[in-house]
Amino acid sequence: MLQPFSQSERIDQVRYDIRGPLNARALELEAHGHKIIKLNIGNPALFGFTTPAHMREAIAANLSNSEAYVHQQGILPAREAVARSLEARGMRVSPNQVYIGNGVSELIDLTLRALLNTGDEVLLPAPDYPLWTAAVHLNSGKPVYYDCMPENNGLPDPAQIEALITKRTRALVIINPNNPNGAVYPKELVEQLAQIAERYGLILMSDEIYEGLLFDDAKFHSAAPLVRDTLAITFSGLSKVHRACGYRVGWFTLSGALKPARDYIKALDVLAALRLCSNVAGQWAVPAAFDGIDTCTPLCQPGGRLYESRRALLEGVARSNYLTTATPMGAMYAFPGVDTTRLHNFDDQVFAMTMLEREHILIVPGSSFNVRYRNHFRMTLLPEAPVIRKVLAAMESVLAEQAGDLLGARPLALTNAVPFSAEPCASFA
Ligand code: PLP
Repeated sequence: MLQPFSQSERIDQVRYDIRGPLNARALELEAHGHKIIKLNIGNPALFGFTTPAHMREAIAANLSNSEAYVHQQGILPAREAVARSLEARGMRVSPNQVYIGNGVSELIDLTLRALLNTGDEVLLPAPDYPLWTAAVHLNSGKPVYYDCMPENNGLPDPAQIEALITKRTRALVIINPNNPNGAVYPKELVEQLAQIAERYGLILMSDEIYEGLLFDDAKFHSAAPLVRDTLAITFSGLSKVHRACGYRVGWFTLSGALKPARDYIKALDVLAALRLCSNVAGQWAVPAAFDGIDTCTPLCQPGGRLYESRRALLEGVARSNYLTTATPMGAMYAFPGVDTTRLHNFDDQVFAMTMLEREHILIVPGSSFNVRYRNHFRMTLLPEAPVIRKVLAAMESVLAEQAGDLLGARPLALTNAVPFSAEPCASFA
């Protein structure tokens, strides 16, 4: 008799709740004719954002140049454009130091795969973008989390990071601007993190995919120009700043101390070659993206779509009896928390489930981002401001019912109807 096909043990600790059981339930509800407001994923095109025309035209004009495999690191004009863009940061980088992939997603896995042996540790922010945790597990490593607490505006504490370093630590990962909490790291902080990486010989992996999405007076400081005595790997791409997720184009750039990293770079080349190359057509949009006009900044300024949605979020939270949030200074998400002195038994997963079943609003529980606390959630700021207002109003009424704050109401029993794991994050088990 055929034995059951069980999954690899490597998958046991891997989760990606952004497209997990809640999302599956949302699709089910949609199939039954319900309209779901999907705030679970930073996918700009779903909310009417479009890739700038000059990028689309560059792809269309080069379709006939996109039919062969190309160099494993990507087409030269795209790598040259990335290298040129770094001159503005005072960096001189050869196109040979740029690797293009099918989104940053593929490259996170590739760079960790080339690095980690079983049990090697990688310092990750908590909350993190959960692909980082998943990729560490998939490559036999051990995620070690440093806190980016809401009460510290989502910023890490360098002293805590330093205290977590062991003989097994290989890399320090930072996400700046941050997904999910929207923090943008001040220059002194980035400097301190770069110095820690240098002092302990760690690779500094800086995920800067939201680098142009900045609000108010936030200034972005890339880590790479501050790193000399160790290897820096900087990740970025077209998905967010250029609203081009579906073209699947991301890159990383190597800089800093390249000589001691020769062996590791050889491994990167082998892994890049093994998958032949990334999607070629999308790569033609890279020079256009850098040479064309800035279409991102206006979205983040007063009157701009993202700015006004963020304003609606902040006003809604300010009015709320239950919600708090660090002000997102960059990226396209908010990571609000619920006041547990008002709602003692609050559970982020149960709340997310209730919002979906009752209000048809899909959010992601905070614990899906590998934090220890369970009173936060993430939502994207991509819908227009009126939708954000509607979402906040719906949340307020669910929370008021749960708290028993409605006149004559009994506390609401939150929905837990759909089977999903309510256990603490696997990574903390
Ligand atoms: N890094 C961060 C912090 C992200 O938020 C995302 C996507 O949401 C990615 C990497 C992956 O982006 P992509 O694979 O589209 O380049």
